[in-house]
Amino acid sequence: MKLQLECNHTPFQKQTCLTCNSLIEMSEAKVIVCNDQGKAYGEVCPHCLKQGFGWLSNRFDQLNQVSKVKEIDVVRQAQTRRMPVGA
Ligand SMILES: [Zn+2]
Repeated sequence: MKLQLECNHTPFQKQTCLTCNSLIEMSEAKVIVCNDQGKAYGEVCPHCLKQGFGWLSNRFDQLNQVSKVKEIDVVRQAQTRRMPVGA
């Protein structure tokens, strides 16, 4: 996980924090969480930044794991629907 500081071209807009889901008003600079491949995931609020890099990294891993579990569930449901009924 990486943190990236970016210049915000549209300040004072409300954004949802990636890690705590609270609504935040963005300032002129924003901090974005990226994975190791550099893919951006979203903005992080100052409150979450204060928890430290280790906390953010753990939270980010948890979020990724949750989305992976959801993907597996969707695949399972699709497979179940394709099962022949009354065979
Ligand atoms: Zn937050």
